[in-house]
Amino acid sequence: MNDRVALVTGGSRGIGRAICLALAKRGAKVVACARDGDALKEVTDEARSRELAGEIDPRVLDLNDREAIDPFVSGVIDDYDRIDILINNAGITRDGLLASMGDDEFDEVLTTNLRSVFWLTRAVCPTMVWRRWGRIVNIGSVSGVMGLAGQANYAASKAGLIGLSKTLAKELGKRKITCNVVAPGFITTDMISGLPDDLVKSFKQMIPLGRFGEVEEVAETAVFLASDVASYITGQVIVVDGGMHM
Ligand code: NAP
Repeated sequence: MNDRVALVTGGSRGIGRAICLALAKRGAKVVACARDGDALKEVTDEARSRELAGEIDPRVLDLNDREAIDPFVSGVIDDYDRIDILINNAGITRDGLLASMGDDEFDEVLTTNLRSVFWLTRAVCPTMVWRRWGRIVNIGSVSGVMGLAGQANYAASKAGLIGLSKTLAKELGKRKITCNVVAPGFITTDMISGLPDDLVKSFKQMIPLGRFGEVEEVAETAVFLASDVASYITGQVIVVDGGMHM
């Protein structure tokens, strides 16, 4: 991936951080974005201290700020000439049963997890179309595939991401641009760190592999889909969940 320029959202923590490091390990130039600039700089420092072949350029962006997205993408293209790989990873949860879910909790999740993907992908696509090559990997969730109680907002956003991704695969395939979804199950990150012990226990009983996943296990799947060797895979949802949904 030496010549590849990648943009990864939510690169400061969890799965996004692991994706940035996995891409940099293979030599990619990675632009990592999130709201927390200090956390992003730590990822850059880790890539340097591990002497990875590529580099990680930390850039602050709030994906909920629609007006910031087009100038942000233009800035990256001005500096790197192109974006070859787009990993839409950033996401949030605001869980609660539908009956008590407020409009703000629904809207916030839909904006961060879905609307921002539409805004960012629309801004990035022209450079991929122009160069007749691109890889778009969207990080979904098993919740968007099977539904999970307490996640009406989140499941809707992730199911929407699948529809968006399949449509993009059809619209962009002739330009050698692929678009796929990686749908993780339970992965050990900040996002699920607040789960009560009894829920953790019962969720693990639903997983044939008997454990939660690690961020690297999702990152490697995303990097595979972003690589040259995944050239004939598009419009797919790859579930990385230890067999929970099948
Ligand atoms: P995480 O540890 O909570 O990290 C979320 C990342 O998204 C952070 O880097 C965060 O950075 C960024 N982010 C959140 N809101 C943002 C905004 N408005 N603008 C820019 N960046 C924003 O989550 P994770 O577990 O790694 O999840 C990564 C992806 O995997 C998400 O799409 C999530 O839905 C999906 N997923 C996770 C699991 C799981 O079990 N962990 C399961 C299924 C799917 P800042 O806070 O600094 O902005």
